[in-house]
Amino acid sequence: MSVTLIDPSTGVPFREVQLASVEETDAVIARAVAAQRGWAALAPGARADALRSFARVVEDHVEELAQLEVQNSGHPISSARWEAAHVAQVLNFSAGAPERLSGQQIPVAGGMNVTFHEPYGVVGIIVPWNFPMTIASWGFAPALAAGNAVVLKPAELTPLTALRLGELALEAGLPEGLFAVIPGAGAVVGQRFVTHPDVRAVVFTGSTRVGTEVAAGCARMLKPVTLELGGKSANIVFDDADLAKAAASAPGAVFDNAGQDCCARSRILVQRSVYDRFLELLEPAVQAWRVGDPKDPSTEMGPLISATHRDRVSSYLDDARVAFRGSAPGGEGFWFAPTVVLADPGDRIAQEEVFGPVVAVLPFEDEADAVRLANDTAYGLAGSIFTENLGRAVRVSRGVRSGVLSVNSHSSVRYWTPFGGMKASGLGRELGPDAAEHFTETKNVFFADAP
Ligand code: NAD
Repeated sequence: MSVTLIDPSTGVPFREVQLASVEETDAVIARAVAAQRGWAALAPGARADALRSFARVVEDHVEELAQLEVQNSGHPISSARWEAAHVAQVLNFSAGAPERLSGQQIPVAGGMNVTFHEPYGVVGIIVPWNFPMTIASWGFAPALAAGNAVVLKPAELTPLTALRLGELALEAGLPEGLFAVIPGAGAVVGQRFVTHPDVRAVVFTGSTRVGTEVAAGCARMLKPVTLELGGKSANIVFDDADLAKAAASAPGAVFDNAGQDCCARSRILVQRSVYDRFLELLEPAVQAWRVGDPKDPSTEMGPLISATHRDRVSSYLDDARVAFRGSAPGGEGFWFAPTVVLADPGDRIAQEEVFGPVVAVLPFEDEADAVRLANDTAYGLAGSIFTENLGRAVRVSRGVRSGVLSVNSHSSVRYWTPFGGMKASGLGRELGPDAAEHFTETKNVFFADAP
């Protein structure tokens, strides 16, 4: 079996990639088991050095990785360069972990009690197509740092940068088999990570539907699982906010990566007293959003990932009240113009993750109403709060049930701060100071001092 990769900006097929079978997956997992033993036995400083070398090799290949992502995923080159550099940064950050994974000494009578952070063994990482490199690195870098081996399955549509990172790991001197990228179908390779007894932990990023199945399978195997799932995040604009700033930044917060971003602020909740004024300011900002050739460094948004996905995204406009749209090129690529719709809280467009450049704008009355509306979806991943009132910013950020919030900005991902969702957006956290520790289990050892 193979998959044909298509350039999303032109619709032209450009490469075939073989998909692995269950037997091939099992063979890679067996090699990972063997490699992990040696890796975990290395001095912490040696593991740190190996990860720093890996980071340096990735730094040397940022341009190549970025160009691959432009062709495979249609990401604008400026974004793709950022993503490739981010992988190197996550590796460098994780390289600090092996020497800092300290356990505890806990006072006891009759001896000494200490804890160790033991690696799981082999960790299986399942990656979606929207940010193929960055999301992969959030799993593999800290997992390796903690002494695990990693088997990683990229999404069927976007395997190229992950495959290249697997090669770069070998160039950097990581042991053969320690970090293996296995292109394959979700139901084959991804499921095998869930059912294989030697894959001792799973990291899944993708849809809430598949993530729920993966979690159920992991429960049957008593495997820990981290789930990074969908979102329907709110960008809340109060009447005391800097409206010009809020409106100018709103398109980037939802249309970045053509809205194919789990953290997309795909609902804008605007206080009714400034609702009309905000829309007046938003319209020119949306029209100025530059959609076009991903190879052009000034492009802000490229195409959607596939024709099928474009059909799915456009189906959301069938019964929507479109306020205004930006522009997009014509041609054979999977283009979709940024779109602003007016919505009521129960509308499908206000509840479901579109995963495309479509934003729903809803009015709210007061602070309590804003928090209620922000929490009025199944999801709880990200969100933004625009207000000049510090007390309100504190109250609302504590009231919104989301894992990653940002006040007067739209920041979601800093690799040194924790990332993850509440409710249907996920379980567990990635990145941040404890990222590597999340890939370990605590062992408690008591040493009796009696002769
Ligand atoms: P998806 O759930 O269809 O696929 C994700 C991955 O799971 C792919 O690699 C796929 O091959 C694999 N998979 C599919 N079926 C499987 C199975 N039965 N067992 C094991 N693995 C299986 O999602 P997608 O369409 O690739 O990605 C889009 C979704 O990902 C969106 O919902 C988005 O919000 C979410 N996402 C979440 C985050 C986050 O960090 N919270 C980040 C990016 C994307």
